[in-house]
This record gives sequence, C-alpha cells and structure tokens, in this order.
Amino acid sequence: MPFVPNLVIFIAVCIIAASTAAMCFFSYYTLGRENLVEVNLTQTNEKLAKQYVDQIEQKIVDNDGILSGMIDVEDPSKWPSMVDYVLRADLNVDQVYFLKPDNNYPIYPPYSNEIRNEWGAFQSSFKLKELNLNSLTLNQVNHLHKERPNNYFFASYVLKENSKGSRILVCFQMNLSRIKSLLGENLRKLQDKYYVSIVDYDNNGVYGQPLSRSSKYFCETRFSSTLYKWILQMVPRNYTELELTAKNQRRNSLFFIIASTCLIFFSLAVIYMAWQRDRQLRQLKENFISNVSHELKTPLSLIRMFSEILVLGRIKGEDKRQEYYRIIYNESDRMSRLINNLLDFAHLIRGIEYKHFERTNIARVLSEALEAYRYEIQKDGFQLDFEASEDVPDSFADPNAIVMAFFNLLDNSVKYSGDQKRIIVRIGQTKGFVNISVSDKGVGIPASEQHKIFDKFYRGNDPAIRRVRGSGIGLAITKHVAEMHGGEVLVESAPGKGSTFTLMIPIRSVPEDEELQSGISMGAQIS
Ligand code: ADP
Repeated sequence: MPFVPNLVIFIAVCIIAASTAAMCFFSYYTLGRENLVEVNLTQTNEKLAKQYVDQIEQKIVDNDGILSGMIDVEDPSKWPSMVDYVLRADLNVDQVYFLKPDNNYPIYPPYSNEIRNEWGAFQSSFKLKELNLNSLTLNQVNHLHKERPNNYFFASYVLKENSKGSRILVCFQMNLSRIKSLLGENLRKLQDKYYVSIVDYDNNGVYGQPLSRSSKYFCETRFSSTLYKWILQMVPRNYTELELTAKNQRRNSLFFIIASTCLIFFSLAVIYMAWQRDRQLRQLKENFISNVSHELKTPLSLIRMFSEILVLGRIKGEDKRQEYYRIIYNESDRMSRLINNLLDFAHLIRGIEYKHFERTNIARVLSEALEAYRYEIQKDGFQLDFEASEDVPDSFADPNAIVMAFFNLLDNSVKYSGDQKRIIVRIGQTKGFVNISVSDKGVGIPASEQHKIFDKFYRGNDPAIRRVRGSGIGLAITKHVAEMHGGEVLVESAPGKGSTFTLMIPIRSVPEDEELQSGISMGAQIS
C-alpha cells in the first residue's frame, strides 16, 4: 500500500480530536452526571429522613397538645380524676406530676412513701434547677429528653396559671416503650426501601442496630425539638446495587478515558513516525538526485574525453582507436540503460499501466537477453553459470518488464560481487510459478537491511555498497514488476557470503488473458 504521510497525519489528527472529545465527554459529562446523580440521591435521602423525623415530632407535639388540654390547674380536687383519665387514655403517659416551680416535692400526687421511689427516679432526671423556668411561656409544652444509665428519660411539661395567679408546672412522664412503638409505626413504611435505625449520640441503637456511617448513601437526621437526644439513621436497602452501578460506571468511564489517552499517544506516535518517514524520504530523494547525476556524469565525461581524443586524431594504432570506440559504445550503453531505468521508474511512479502482456516463454526470453550480456560481464572477469529448466511453460506476461526486472538483479550481482566474480542464474518452475534466481558470492546484505532494500531510493549503508554507483530504484522496479504479474521477489543473503534474489512469476494460461489483462494491467502504483 502506498504510504501517504499526509493522509496518515490527517487520520491521526482526527483520532486525536475524537479521543480528546470522548475524554472530555466522559470526564466532564459522565463523571459530572454521575456525581449529580449521587448528590441528588443523597439529597433525596436527607429530605426523606427529615420528613419522617418531622412527622414523628409532629405526632408527639399533637399528643402533648391533647395532654395539655386535658389538664386544668384551677381546681385541685379534680386533679385525681384528670390524671386518672390521662393515664387511661392512649396518650403514652406513665405519670403526671403537678409541681410548684419553687418546691422540690409534688403538690400532686401528694408525696408519700408510696410514690417515693417513683418520684425519686423522676426527680433524678427532671431537675427543676436545670430548667430555666423563667423563660417558659404559659401553656406551651416543652420537652426534656435525657440519657439514664440503662435507658432514657422523656417528659413533656407545661407551665399553667390558675385564676389566683399561682403558677403550676404540669409534667407528663412519658412511657418509653410506647414512644418506641410510635416510632416503629411511623417508620414501617420507610423500612420497605431503607435500613432504618435510631441511635443516641454515642451511637447506641435505640431502635434497631446502628448503621455503618461509611455506607455511601448513609444519612442521618436529629430529632431537633422532642426526642432531641436521638438521631434517625437510614441507608437505601439497595445501596450495594447502587454502589455497584456507580462503581461500574466509574470503571467504564475510566476505561474510556484510558483508551482515549492511549489513542492520543498512539496517534502522536503515528504522526511522529509519518514525519520521520517523510524526512527520510526527502533525504533519500536528495541522495537519489545526486546519485543519478553522478551516474550520468561519469560515463558522459568518459565519452567526452575519448571522443575528443578521436576527433583530434591523436591516436596512433588502429587497435587503440577500436578500444576507444568500444569504451564510448559501452559507456553510452550504460547511460542509455540508466535512462531507460529512470523512464521506467517514472512510469511506475505515475502508475502508468503496462499493456504488453502476451504469451511469453520466460526461460527463452531471458536466456536470449542473457546471451547478449554474457560477453560484457565475462570480459570483466565474471564467471556466469546459467541453468534453465526445459519444462518452463509459456505464461501470460510482459516480456520487456520481466527482462528489465531480471537485468536489475543481474546488474546488482555484478555491482556488489566484489572480488568473488561468480554469478549463477537459474530458471525453473515450482508450484505454479516460474522462478528466476540470480546468485552472487559478493558482499551480501545484513538481515536488518533486507526489508528496506525494496524501498524506492534506498541504498545499502555498507561502504562497499556506497563505493559502487547506484540510484536505489532497481529493486523497487523489480518488486513492482513481480507484483504486477501477481508474483513476488525474495531475497536470501548473508554479509560476506553473497545473495540470491528470486523473482517468482505465476504461470498464467493464456485463455484467461482478457480478464487477466485488465486485472494485471491495473498493476499497483509503485510505493
Ligand atoms: P542500487 O543498486 O542502485 O543501489 P537497488 O534498488 O538495485 O539500488 O538496490 C538497493 C540496495 O540493495 C543496494 O544499494 C544494495 O545495498 C542492496 N543490494 C541489491 N542487490 C544486492 C546484491 N546482489 N548484493 C548486495 N547488496 C545488494
């Protein structure tokens, strides 16, 4: 696939933008929303708790109102019947005391041995000295709620005045178990959906067991005006579920944030690699221009030099003249090969189609081409071994392109053979492919470079390679020719031991040609 840095960068930038947007969404919207849901839930719980506490307190206050209305301080003779009536009514009262604000004993019931213990217990909690009696409003009910060593004390009291202007404090000692039943009745509905408990300030359970304050949706509310030593606690029954949902949501959000961050870093890495690749490509192009100029300049100078000698007629013998003609011929041939290669390369780069597919016997075409070349390389001291299998069938291929690819391989073997001047060319067929292999015993290619050598403009880093003239396009052309036939080119090489390049061209039978031609001639643009 062609590498298009700009497209890659564009895609990477889009990924970054999308990831950043996703991250913003999840961190600000989802997490924010999640917090909002939590806050709402907590607020709802608190509101509900307050509502129930208010409801219970209102019932106690209403009860007090009835009690206060039942007691009249005008006529002491009626007090026994009034008290009796109050105690028998279902108003949660254990005992009623009529007190003078400045007297330590009740005026009713009259103090006697009979009530001594009861009064003593009442008085130990209900201490007149501790009550700010002067601030009391007439006929307004007040409450005293206290802890005792093993239980609690709760009383309602009201200051009343008779027609003679004498003030009497009426105290109702409340029955705690009935108060607790009142709590139970009023909290029953709430208990359907919540764990409910009432505790004192030391977190001792008064009604139910104390709840764990560390539960996420725990909330508590004081009974502010009546049972003010107690606190209502509650936690939603499905709090584990709620916590789990919140935890899952948080985990999902975290996952998306991490994934987005990874994508951002990945995209940045892609951008960096694209930039690096672009830089390398520019560098390779610059090298290519200088290499090509150099490759053209050298033969041109030789041609110019020898033709000048010939023109000036300074040559003595016919042999020398022939030798100069041959040098000029060889150098111009080398130049024309280079220029042809460049033109082919330019065509390939522009994706120009090859339309010269025809019935071709690859072994025959290459052996003929090789014969013309054989003399030239043998003259340079090379031993060339050629083996072509007899059974290579005709195939549907572009003979010129195959010859061009083959000569690129052969040329490289000659260029990079060093002192080991032996080249072996083998043509055969295996598993539906014509295999053309070119082996040399030359400098070889390190494993780390083998995947790069087919890139356009790439030249090996070895000084032995750099010393030899080259443009870095030969193998790119060869690879392209292989691919446009549906084949491939393989390399086996080890530094110092030589290299074998194998061009594999699939054997296509000619009848398919029409269809194939359109398929093959769409040969990919060189990458
Ligand atoms: P050029 O030969 O002009 O440098 P190529 O595309 O033909 O460009 O080859 C690319 C690189 O592959 C060469 O520069 C060289 O490093 C390596 N190479 C190709 N053929 C051989 C070979 N037969 N022996 C050693 N190295 C080779």
